[in-house]
Order: sequence, then structure tokens, then C-alpha cells
Amino acid sequence: MMSSVVTGEVVVDWLTRFHDIVTKQRAYLTELDSAIGDADHGVTMERGLTAVVNQLSPAPQEPPAEVLNQVGDILQASLGGAAGPLYSALFHGAGAELLRHDRTGSDLDTTALASGLRGGLAELVRRGRPEQGDKTMFDVLDAAVAELEAAAAAGSSLEVATAAAAASAVGGREATAPMLARKGRASYLGERSIGHVDPGAASAAMLIIALAEAVAQP
Ligand code: ADP
Ligand code: MG
Repeated sequence: MMSSVVTGEVVVDWLTRFHDIVTKQRAYLTELDSAIGDADHGVTMERGLTAVVNQLSPAPQEPPAEVLNQVGDILQASLGGAAGPLYSALFHGAGAELLRHDRTGSDLDTTALASGLRGGLAELVRRGRPEQGDKTMFDVLDAAVAELEAAAAAGSSLEVATAAAAASAVGGREATAPMLARKGRASYLGERSIGHVDPGAASAAMLIIALAEAVAQP
């Protein structure tokens, strides 16, 4: 059976799948970051996610909000680069948002997942101040969360909602190619940043694809 809610265990599976995708696609992330950055994004992401896979050890029945918070702690300590504080803010913010609204720490349906990730994205924005169209991971994550919110409003199952969010994330990733970078290292290139997919947008799409996979797993 696919998951009808996101449990703490599903969060662990989600991050394990994210690690696996990043590891397989490390060269692709390196190539993207070579074009408009410093070629470290693949290595940085793999290092942070290897730490997550090795160190994440929630108690049985640990609520998803607590697991998300632990992921934020591990990424904060081990991811590094510009992406480290941003991804850790996303997970810390999601955990905090869920704990604020659900002190019993129950499992997440589509609505709760969407609101948790929206809260996480707000924390990422406080950290990096990205705006839509700046050619960053924010463009992908915002598109994915908006899709989850629309799916929640339509009463979609978690599986349908996360699959739609993954499709949106891929669209968001491709949409960064023609953009001029306005944040981070790529912004130093000005017009020369145009015509390349943003590396953080690519890793963020992998994050949402991993979520859809974890939810859909048999
Ligand atoms: P660094 O630039 O330190 O080498 P990484 O290569 O790990 O860091 O990550 C680069 C990615 O981080 C970019 O592709 C972009 O998506 C994202 N990024 C950088 N600065 C910001 C920011 N201020 N807001 C949102 N995302 C950002
Ligand atoms: Mg880099």
C-alpha cells in the first residue's frame, strides 16, 4: 500500500531516496555548478545527505515534525556552502511550523504536508531572501509547494499531490535556464548565467521527486 499519510518513517525514506538520487546524479549537479558556480554542489549535497542517512535515527513512532527538525540539525552541521543554511532552514522551518500547529505531532495528510513545507520555505526565504525568478532553488520549491496546496484544496490523495508537485518541480527546474541569476555565486556572472539550469534548482527538484517516490512506494 502506498502511504496515505507522511509518518516519521516516510520522512526517513524520503531523505534516503534524496541521498540516493543525489549520489547517482552527483556529476550532473557538478556540471551545472561548473557552468555558473564553483563546481561544488554535487559534492556538497552528497556530503550533507550522507550525514543524514548515517545519523538520522528517530525513535519508533517519532512524529514527522521531530524527524524534519533532526534533518535540519544534521544538514546545518554538515551540508555547507550556500545551500547548507538554506536546506537546513527549510527542514527546521517545516518542523517548527508543524509543531506550532499540531502539538500532538500526528502524521501528515496533504494539507499538513503543504502547510509544513510552506512554513519551511518561509524560513528559507528569511535566510536567503530569494524572490521568484531569481534563478534559485526557491523557484522549484515554491512551484512544488503551490502545487501541493492546490492539490490539498482539491482534496487530492497524498500520492496524486506529491506526483503533481514533482512534475511542477521539474518544470520549475527547467524554467530557471533562461533566467538571469540574481542571488548567490551565479549572480556574479550577470548575463552569462542565462542559458544554464541552476544547480540548487536541480537538487531541489530531486528533493521533491524523492518525496513523491517515498509516498508512492509499494
Ligand atoms: P555555493 O554557492 O556556496 O557554492 P552551492 O553550490 O552548494 O553553494 O549552492 C548553490 C545554490 O544555492 C544555487 O544554485 C542556488 O539555487 C542556491 N542559492 C544561493 N544563494 C541563494 C539565495 N540567497 N537564496 C536562495 N537560494 C540560493
Ligand atoms: Mg557551488
